[in-house]
Order: sequence, then structure tokens, then C-alpha cells
Amino acid sequence: MFETPRKRVLLAKPRGYCAGVDRAVQTVEEALKLYGAPIYVRKEIVHNKHVVSTLQAKGAIFVEENFEVPEGATVIFSAHGVAPEVHDQARERNLKAIDATCPLVTKVHHEARRFAAEDYDILLIGHEGHEEVIGTSGEAPSHIQLVDGPDGVDKVTVRDPEKVVWLSQTTLSVDETMETVARLKEKLPLLQSPPSDDICYATQNRQQVMKQIAPDCDVVLVVGSRNSSNSVRMVEVAVQAGARQGYLVDFAHEIDPAWLADATTVGLSSGASVPEELVTQVLARLAELGFADVEEVLTVQERLTFSLPQELKRDMKAASA
Ligand code: SF4
Repeated sequence: MFETPRKRVLLAKPRGYCAGVDRAVQTVEEALKLYGAPIYVRKEIVHNKHVVSTLQAKGAIFVEENFEVPEGATVIFSAHGVAPEVHDQARERNLKAIDATCPLVTKVHHEARRFAAEDYDILLIGHEGHEEVIGTSGEAPSHIQLVDGPDGVDKVTVRDPEKVVWLSQTTLSVDETMETVARLKEKLPLLQSPPSDDICYATQNRQQVMKQIAPDCDVVLVVGSRNSSNSVRMVEVAVQAGARQGYLVDFAHEIDPAWLADATTVGLSSGASVPEELVTQVLARLAELGFADVEEVLTVQERLTFSLPQELKRDMKAASA
């Protein structure tokens, strides 16, 4: 007699919220409590539909640019970072600006400023049009050129091949970035590396656990939004690491039962901007579809936290005095 294979879910950990997202969301929530609604937020505070609509319901108004914010109002800059000119525009409009840029993105901005001050050519590996790349490039537009993956290497030209450094967006695929760097080094053997990893701990950890579970998975589901770079990369990493299929879903109801028809093992993770309640809802849906057996696979404990932006903490302290 053949036994029916046990249907199971391999639940990746770490998953979901990173320290930078947690801080950015808390910044909007605390600002709403302290100053009252509405609070304006330039761009999506983090790239997640559910987070954005929840904050909208609490009184946050999301805008694309500072000119949409009434003069003198409070505006929060998103976790992805902004170019210096965005701070200048806020000052010109007399806005009260609170900067929720993730400190790990700010670190890349500092690197860009430092190397530009030393007159390096800076090759920024990242995705064209992504907010983080726009913000970092704005620190030194005349020194930075974007390299959008390995295929972008052919277009690179530098002034002095002995004075060139690469930096990267924080949420890329580690393996693809290393491939881009290897191609760059074939062209520019004296290319320097950043002083420390630009791809952040959260992106790396989520990809690492995904690589571990993917070879055992028929299907991998990643909870996250289409404009979330780290979520999209996780699906790619899962398929490259051996999962037969990988899907990105914002919500549990988006799961098509046909995806799981022949599956025995389903891998599940979530992007760094995804609240755990959405993963819980996906687990409930998977249980309805016969995947009630959940095994959590832990690779590393994350303990990093970031304190709220100084400008907000100062006002919170004054209000409680
Ligand atoms: S994904 Fe990384 S860089 Fe982006 S907010 Fe989270 S910790 Fe910061």
C-alpha cells in the first residue's frame, strides 16, 4: 500500500518586517498620534498595499511630491530615502519634515557622498526608477552611474579606471549582484568594493532561508507587493534555488488552488515590508487547501531595532514633559 505524501508548509524565518520598515511604519503612527491627522507621507512609506491602506484609514495622506503638501504641514519621507533636493524643497515650502529613511539606506548615501567628495566614479548597482536608487543617485548625480544588473555592465564608462567604486541598492539579489560585480571587475580590475555590505541584513537573511527551503518545495509563495524589490527578489531566488514554481501574493485570496494541485511541500515567506497578519491569513488559506501541517525553518534570529527619527523623538519628549 502506498501512503499519501504528507502535505506540509515550510515556513521561512526570518521573514516579514525588518527593522527599517518597523521604524518607518511606527514613525507614521506616532506622528498621527502626536500631531493629529492628516499627516502627509511622500511616496509609499514602505512598499506594501496593506500597510499603506491601513495608514490611510488612520489619517495618512500619501503624495508623490512635496508640492502636493500644503505649506507648513508635516511630511514624512519614506524608508527608501530621498535625494538632498527633496529636503531643500521641504524647507522652501516651510514643511515640517520627518525623515523615515532606513538607517541602512542612509549609510549608502553617506558612502556615495564620501566617494564623490574624493572624486571617484561610483557604479551604483540597482534597478532603474526604484525610489532608493533615485534618492542615492541624487546625492552625487555627476559621479554616480546606474548599473542595472549584469547586462548593464557593457554601457559603463569611467574617467579613471583606478578610481572607481561600486555601491548597491539595499534590496537586491545577493547572487545577481555578485555576478554584476564579477562582470564589472573583468572590465575594471581595480574596481573598489564598498567598505561594508550595502545589501542589508534583512534582504540577505530572507534570501538565505529561502535558498535553504526552496530545493524541498514544489511551490513557494512569497507574501509581498509587486513594487517591493526584496519580495520580488525572493521569488526569483526561490526558483533559482530549486522550487518548481514561485508566486508573489499580496493577500491570501490571491492564491489560485490550481497552483497547489500537484504540490506536496509549499514554502512560505514574506517580504521585509509585510506585516505578520498577512502571513497568518495565508497559512489559514493553505490549511483550507489541505496544507495544515506547518514546519518553521529558522536560520538566524534577528534582533536589530532602530530608534525613531530624532525630529519626532524630540517632539514626543516635549509633548510628554
Ligand atoms: S529592507 Fe533593509 S534597507 Fe530596506 S528598510 Fe528593511 S532593513 Fe532597511
